[in-house]
Amino acid sequence: MNDITLLDNSQSTRFISILVPVYNEEDNLPQLIGRLLEVTAGIDKRVEILLVDDGSRDRSAELIAAAAAQHPELIIGILLNRNYGQHAAIMAGFEYSGGEAVITLDADLQNPPEEIPKLLAEIDQGCDVVGTIRVNRQDSFFRRQASRLVNYVVQRVTGVQMSDYGCMLRAYRRSIVDAMLSCHERSTFIPILANSFGRNTSEVEVMHAERERGESKYRLMDLVNLQFDLLTSITTAPLRLLSMIGFGIAILGFAFGALLIILRLVYGPQWGIEGIFPLFAILFIFIGAQFVGMGLLGEYIGRVYIDVRARPRYFVQKIIDHTERR
Ligand code: UDP
Ligand code: MG
Repeated sequence: MNDITLLDNSQSTRFISILVPVYNEEDNLPQLIGRLLEVTAGIDKRVEILLVDDGSRDRSAELIAAAAAQHPELIIGILLNRNYGQHAAIMAGFEYSGGEAVITLDADLQNPPEEIPKLLAEIDQGCDVVGTIRVNRQDSFFRRQASRLVNYVVQRVTGVQMSDYGCMLRAYRRSIVDAMLSCHERSTFIPILANSFGRNTSEVEVMHAERERGESKYRLMDLVNLQFDLLTSITTAPLRLLSMIGFGIAILGFAFGALLIILRLVYGPQWGIEGIFPLFAILFIFIGAQFVGMGLLGEYIGRVYIDVRARPRYFVQKIIDHTERR
């Protein structure tokens, strides 16, 4: 009797959702939908395609409505009233999705839909979260370096080993999606959130294409904002950094003061440019104290933040109960 293994092959899925956030992608939608239909025809499971329009100002919403009317059994359109951002749009799609696994991808064809079966294979192997690594990544040098830095920081802070958080071609098992839906914070970074609930995660290599039509929706400030969402969704450690810096500065101030006293004793009263040096030492000590004060505030704010997010304290993956109580 061995039905307790958590990584078994009996977890294969019969119903999957494919979820695409769409924001001003009228040039890409026709090709995207065509390729998605082709790919799903080759998958021997029940499939639904959710197209979430994130308040587009072009004809995307109309195109989605038309596609949903044309393929009523397959395509579902979800239209948001205004632009909420990619991650919020994906959350909206999660809410409506019914699949035992949900696959997300971008609408701009940078994530080839043809890679979907690869992710499904991993899910059917028993993985909860499947990430992707972009081979031949087609982004600018600056974007690539920025993500390398982010990946490094995330790995250090969370200990979760994934090498590419930027690629949104990903797959999540239903239990993970439900766990994410029960997190009510406004700023979310979905791949990180998923990893904090995932038990068996894996990564597959996928192709990455250049954006051919339309333009990237992320400007520099959006990227900065996204990085802060990412950081704050995993840790409040930066707040603690303030106290650490403060202690450092204050200790330097004390050391400097001590050094001045010694030098004064050695070289006599003329030394020390008439009290300017001691002033510096005192200044350092006070600056340090201020930082410590801010850090202390930060500790409280961090705790308030964690409480306000109201994430569930735990998430049960599975209950194994052979007693006949229920
Ligand atoms: N997107 C969205 N809402 C937004 C910004 C982007 O739904 O506010 C969608 C967009 O339509 C695309 C995906 O998110 O499907 C990724 O956007 P983009 O390709 O512009 O990002 P990049 O590839 O430059 O990181
Ligand atoms: Mg893109």
